[in-house]
Amino acid sequence: MIPQTWSAALQTIYPNTRNLLIMRILISLLGLLISLSAQADEIESTEHAKKALEIYSKVVSIPTVAGRERVPEMVEYLADEFRAAGFADQDIHIMPKGETAALVVHYKGDGSANKKPILLLGHMDVVEALAKDWQRPPFKLTQDDTYFYGRGSIDNKYGVSMLSATFIRLKKQGFVPSRDLIIAFSGDEETGMKTTRMLAGEVPLLANAEFALNSDAGGGSLTAKGKAISYRVQAAEKTYVTFELTARNPGGHSSRPRADNAIYELMAALGKIQKYRFAVMSSDMTRNFFRISGQQIGGGLGAAMIAFADNPDNRQASDRLAEEPSYVGTTRTTCIATMLQAGHAENALPQSATATVNCRIFPGVSVAQVKSQLQTVVDNSEIEFVTLGDPVESPISALRDDVMAAISKAVHPRYPGVNIMAYMESGGTDGMHFRSAGIPTWAVSGAFMNPNEMFAHGLNERLPIKAFYDGLDHWTIILKELAGQQNN
Ligand SMILES: [Zn+2]
Repeated sequence: MIPQTWSAALQTIYPNTRNLLIMRILISLLGLLISLSAQADEIESTEHAKKALEIYSKVVSIPTVAGRERVPEMVEYLADEFRAAGFADQDIHIMPKGETAALVVHYKGDGSANKKPILLLGHMDVVEALAKDWQRPPFKLTQDDTYFYGRGSIDNKYGVSMLSATFIRLKKQGFVPSRDLIIAFSGDEETGMKTTRMLAGEVPLLANAEFALNSDAGGGSLTAKGKAISYRVQAAEKTYVTFELTARNPGGHSSRPRADNAIYELMAALGKIQKYRFAVMSSDMTRNFFRISGQQIGGGLGAAMIAFADNPDNRQASDRLAEEPSYVGTTRTTCIATMLQAGHAENALPQSATATVNCRIFPGVSVAQVKSQLQTVVDNSEIEFVTLGDPVESPISALRDDVMAAISKAVHPRYPGVNIMAYMESGGTDGMHFRSAGIPTWAVSGAFMNPNEMFAHGLNERLPIKAFYDGLDHWTIILKELAGQQNN
């Protein structure tokens, strides 16, 4: 009764009180709606986190190591997940290639952006892990307070899980991209890269892409205390090539030594290669990398980085960087002896001696150039040079403003002000095949971690749990930025 009296009293004082009341009701309804939608957002995020973890856990449990032929099983599992989320059968392509397989998932856009598709890369295979050497079972996702453990927990089942969960999430949200988004997961990146070659070179759907974003490299670096150092975008890879150098000799009885000897000749050649340094090289990207890294690292090494960035011809600076295994590769092509095989009996003169020399070539220099350079250095036409495998030369992918802006939108809310910089990988990923096929590729993992926590390929591979949860929106933000309807 009292409120009614109160209301009636108000009515006499303010004739439009009813309107005021209605307004108040509307405002509180609006508040309710906002809090309901915040709740719905929270439920949606929780569901996404659950799905991402479920996929992550499942794929780590499948030992997709070369020779075990389990990649097809992982492909089937992921394909089922995509189907369950609403992707049509004809948009999920499983490409068997013998004992392994590739998976392509086509998220069709409405074409309103009038732009070519974006490819999203990852690889499903992992490097072998010997269970007896691990502290935990490698092919099971386990955790303690700080880390998720398991083979592939970083390389690259983390990336594959995040991209898959993001596609599933966007589909469930009813998101219609303004251009096509296409997942292309390879099945033997760590070994032969046959599926990668097929994806990059033989699939018309993928060949038309404007660019590719790779989940298998890049990402944020943190100090041991969790402070962000930088976010790195992998924009180039050095060319990986291996040569076998062989010296031959008629041989004979070791009690009757001859003046020439295959082992001595090979050693002399290797000694020359050991002393040789390839010419210093740089690009806008590597100079910028050294400038920013130098400011962060400080000290004598940091000063050398900055001096190199200012003037790559500064011999003192490049010599200082050449002493650092982590940085020498960013200043030049490198070649190093990795294996040796010679002779056939302790009491026989060697009939042959072979050394394996592995090179990482600066983008823009051809394999043929490096081979002829090494032959000049060795200066012995008797030494045979054989190039192993089928090396892939790939260009630097020049950075684009739209991609960098999308990365910034995903990275800066988590780590405000952190420097985003491009770098060149001295190792190798699927990206080189796509770059080589003319598709610019940048690797932009969502994980921020301390480089000392990186155990990819090694023992007890792990990912910080914080990196997993903090990175859940990374791909959603990037894809909505690059293929959202606001781009029309
Ligand atoms: Zn990898």
